[in-house]
Amino acid sequence: MSTMTATPFTEPEERVALREAVARLAGKYGHEYIARQAASGGKTTDLWMEMGRNGFLGVNIAEEYGGGGGGMADLAAVLEEAAAQGAPLLMMVVSPAICGSIISRCGTDEQKHRWLPSIADGSLLMAFGITEADAGSNSHQISTTATRDGDEWVLNGQKTFISGVDEAKAVLIVSRTEDARTGKLKPALFVVPTDATGFTRQVIPMAWQAPEKQFTLFLDDVRVPADALVGDPDSADGGLWQLFAGLNPERIMGGALTCGMARYALGRAVDYAKTRTVWKEPIGTHQAIAHPLAKVKIELEQARLLWQKAAALYDAGDDFAAGEYANMAKYAGGEVACNATDAAVQTHGGNGLTVEYGLANQLVAARLGRIAPVSREMILNFVAMHSLGLPKSY
Ligand SMILES: Cc1cc2nc3c(=O)[nH]c(=O)nc-3n(C[C@H](O)[C@H](O)[C@H](O)COP(=O)(O)OP(=O)(O)OC[C@H]3O[C@@H](n4cnc5c(N)ncnc54)[C@H](O)[C@@H]3O)c2cc1C
Repeated sequence: MSTMTATPFTEPEERVALREAVARLAGKYGHEYIARQAASGGKTTDLWMEMGRNGFLGVNIAEEYGGGGGGMADLAAVLEEAAAQGAPLLMMVVSPAICGSIISRCGTDEQKHRWLPSIADGSLLMAFGITEADAGSNSHQISTTATRDGDEWVLNGQKTFISGVDEAKAVLIVSRTEDARTGKLKPALFVVPTDATGFTRQVIPMAWQAPEKQFTLFLDDVRVPADALVGDPDSADGGLWQLFAGLNPERIMGGALTCGMARYALGRAVDYAKTRTVWKEPIGTHQAIAHPLAKVKIELEQARLLWQKAAALYDAGDDFAAGEYANMAKYAGGEVACNATDAAVQTHGGNGLTVEYGLANQLVAARLGRIAPVSREMILNFVAMHSLGLPKSY
């Protein structure tokens, strides 16, 4: 008999307690609150600030900078629980996960003291801008440039689909330095205040009704001080490490967010299937209704294991392996969110498409999980090439 101790497939007690506390808080607000805010053009500020006061938004940030001293697995658990209560806080992916991780890992001590405490308590929201209309999924093609001018940097370019800029005090902008205008991307990351001269935004009307809005950004000779630069674009790896310090958390959080959305949709569908009766028994008696929901439950547990593994690898400092699993987790989460929401709509029949039941808008929200922050096709490209060793296809 083996004497090896098996790793338990359970979470530590503290994280279970964290999940329960988040579920209680987010449950007070729930889907109705989010739907109401979205319909009236409101924001999630009340929920966001209460999450911040309770330490939930900064669980991954070091204690010396006002955080909880936990890891990405804790932050992702927080997001999954909020989303499972019908409150998918999109900006958690961006502010504490992407921006918080990049500044924690690559910022100077001064930058950490300046930004992390307010990111952790939720009083400052930082957006993240990498996507450009002409580059799309091919981030190597981004053309926003930063030019050094004495003690300052001057930024020029455009960004698109940037979430939450109207709520943010600053955007972490991914640019390239003027002398690296062509060739492989050497990212240079700058914290740009949203009230900087030359920084303008334009809202993009989206079909998804949500409190979080997307924006096109215009940077016209935006001047920022030298200490706005986070990390070193001239480092040995061409500055890619500082970008990936944020992209793995982004994908892990994307996986957790979509798992939470799938849990919410599945819960709604199961409740309805147990109570709606049109023949003699509740509709959940019919296998045509029950089996798709059972299938979603299995896909959901697979997807949750993937983001938990990705987060465990990231928190253990294995960035390389974390990258592979974070991509797969993001893919699996996007798929199950779509499948769960589709099954929930079908279970509800006509009610599934009413505004009152709120599930049709969730279909659009879940669809986002297949597109952003990295599309499922680009993940399949990555897995084909890096996990399977197939030739690069693009
Ligand atoms: C609601 C929302 C919020 C967002 N928030 C942010 C944000 O806060 N910050 C930010 O920087 N960005 C954000 N984005 C942008 C998002 O990351 C991009 O939409 C995403 O990376 C895809 O890029 P694209 O839209 O330009 O699609 P494209 O790159 O134009 O791709 C179009 C289609 O072609 C496929 N495709 C492209 N290349 C290949 C290939 N080589 N092989 C196979 N298929 C391929 C894609 O998978 C996709 O299906 C957001 C987007 C949305 C919709």
